[in-house]
Amino acid sequence: MASFALVALDVPLKKLFAYEVVNFTVAVGSRVLVPFGPRRLSGVVMDVRDDAADFTGTPKSIITVFNDLPALSADTLQLCQFVADYYHYPIGAVVSAALPTVFRANSLFSEPAAASVYFVEALDALLNQISKRAHAQRKVAEALLVPHTPAALRRLHDSAWRWTKAWHEAGWVQAAAEEKCVGAASPELPLNAEQAAAVDELVQAKDFMPFLLYGITGSGKTEVYLQTISQVLARGFQVLVLIPEINLTPQLEGRFRARFPGVRMAALHSGLNNTERAVNWLAALRGEAQIVLGTRLAVFTPLPKLGMIIVDEEHDPSFKQQEGLRYSARDVAVYRARQAKVPIVLGSATPSIESWANAKAKRYRLLPLTQRAVAGAVLPKIVLLPTKNVGLVDGLHVMALAAMHAALERGEQVLIFLNRRGFSPVLQCGECGWMASCSHCSARLVLHLKERRLRCHHCGHEEAITHACPDCGNHDLKPVGQGTQRLEESLPQHFPGKKILRIDRDSTSKKGELDAALAQVHSGEADIIIGTQMLAKGHDFDRLNCVVILNADTGLYSVDFRAEERLFALLTQVAGRAGRRESPGEVFIQTAFSDHPFYHQLLARDYAPFANRTLEERNMLLLPPANAWALFRADAPELEQALAALANIRKCISPEPDLVLNQPVAATMLKKAGVERAQLLIAAKSKVQLQAVLGEALPTIQALKLGKVRWTLDVDPVEV
Ligand code: ADP
Ligand code: ZN
Ligand code: ZN
Repeated sequence: MASFALVALDVPLKKLFAYEVVNFTVAVGSRVLVPFGPRRLSGVVMDVRDDAADFTGTPKSIITVFNDLPALSADTLQLCQFVADYYHYPIGAVVSAALPTVFRANSLFSEPAAASVYFVEALDALLNQISKRAHAQRKVAEALLVPHTPAALRRLHDSAWRWTKAWHEAGWVQAAAEEKCVGAASPELPLNAEQAAAVDELVQAKDFMPFLLYGITGSGKTEVYLQTISQVLARGFQVLVLIPEINLTPQLEGRFRARFPGVRMAALHSGLNNTERAVNWLAALRGEAQIVLGTRLAVFTPLPKLGMIIVDEEHDPSFKQQEGLRYSARDVAVYRARQAKVPIVLGSATPSIESWANAKAKRYRLLPLTQRAVAGAVLPKIVLLPTKNVGLVDGLHVMALAAMHAALERGEQVLIFLNRRGFSPVLQCGECGWMASCSHCSARLVLHLKERRLRCHHCGHEEAITHACPDCGNHDLKPVGQGTQRLEESLPQHFPGKKILRIDRDSTSKKGELDAALAQVHSGEADIIIGTQMLAKGHDFDRLNCVVILNADTGLYSVDFRAEERLFALLTQVAGRAGRRESPGEVFIQTAFSDHPFYHQLLARDYAPFANRTLEERNMLLLPPANAWALFRADAPELEQALAALANIRKCISPEPDLVLNQPVAATMLKKAGVERAQLLIAAKSKVQLQAVLGEALPTIQALKLGKVRWTLDVDPVEV
């Protein structure tokens, strides 16, 4: 008798597709190849039934069962189903997103032999082989004190893997299978009382239990993770560690590898190619990899022996995907911990207000770390430099300049944080006020003087620099405002002979450039570092005690109610770069709004009052997490079409008590990449109510004929 497989396919339809299984059996969770119209598609079997009574038409047959992927577990499929239901996204698309790219293909993946790690036992002997002037090679050699995979080596330097292979062939470098990787473990640090209490609580939790590890920067959260992980591994469990995109540093990976040399670790992030990703993912699925360290997407990794989940920097917006399947990896991780009945740790110096509220309501257990871990290290001093009615020198306050000079004289490094790349954010006509703007977006073009281009940072459009005003013909076009490039150009006259290093997305777009730049900071070659958001987190610089923050105010009067929360997190993180060792750091923030309550709370160096005030405000104004939001976004060639479509969508939602149905409005950034955008916000009293409302309305909404309008639904949006 034939049976029927219900297959999840990556097509924009919210349903499973029935296929007949003849002549063989197929397990739930298998990857299969099936015909779909004129095409063939790879999909995953979600269910197998004996009769196809529910299905119309004659089902086609499965073409092949791919045996490159062991059948996914019921837990994994159920996790995908939850995500599909909660974010109202087609199940086939969710399952597809959860799999590494190679398992979405219509062909069999053949797994290469397990990667080896490479390391050096006698560093001095190796260094003797390398020319004193070959700085890059010497850096790579030193890095090999910690075992590196070929992939990690390629991220260090474009040629690092080639050099290592040669050294290995010559016998200077040793290799080992990754899981048997040798070497002495970096020693566990003796914990302070708060750290010890945190580790104690974490290792005692055996069932589902969410923790909020609220520790100031430098309080040793990572050490808490490492010692907790060590105990969870000793019990034979796997640990999933999620980190934000931007923390994707070989340093962090290195710190983990150095602590657990005998343990197979699977990294899952965008720095890997498709094959490396698949190999690591399979190692996790088979239970061979004991630690999985990955970004957002790693939350879906099948882990048969999952014992704990850690989400580091849980407040980071990069945990929420902003396109397609708009899931929050942090929230999915909490669901997953509940599903697997394991503890989960959300760590941050500036927890999201959502997690803060959960801790206040005792749904999450709060684990505070209030001291810097290194003996004697204290939090840096923050000084506000009001810029109102003050003459700035090349954008810098005289006090900031003086502090920089003093720090450099002490032989220290200085970081200037300016979260705006390019030369200047606006090119303006001095006569008529015209400003260069993007023809596809409601946005100004940013002047990139080095590349002689005007660029849109929203859609990627670029054009040559205009030399005459298109409106009045005037030739006097002026760059207004300051970006990192402009700062880089103006600094040498104030600091002659000092090595200035700019680290932003433009200066590090090629592989290896970021790591090379970071190496220059660590080696002390760089005196003054100009950095954007990229440099805010995760990097630990020994000789950095003076940080100057420019243009901090942008988040203060934003339409986005989360902007202040983000600014607090960003400034805390940047400030945390200073004085991580014995010498106290100093942080100067230039601001035009030095009286704003925000800065008083930042100066108090205590996130709790800020978080409490913010939470009270949210409760009063009925903003999340006091209620639950969903945002319909629509785009169309004309704004009117988008608004009309949203009005139609709105009509499909039946009003009910405690449900706020706003009117459709134009998006804050009306035009982006050539389309006009509008949005419709609905606010429910709880996530439960929101889900019920959406569940009821969406079938009708999906049946609407909306012409040229494309619409998406964002549940729990983080950008509004
Ligand atoms: P966080 O992640 O909270 O910012 P880290 O874990 O990076 O902090 O720790 C900051 C610094 O303190 C690191 O250099 C780390 O080695 C050190 N450190 C952490 N715990 C201890 C400890 N118990 N004793 C001494 N140094 C510690
Ligand atoms: Zn003009
Ligand atoms: Zn644009």
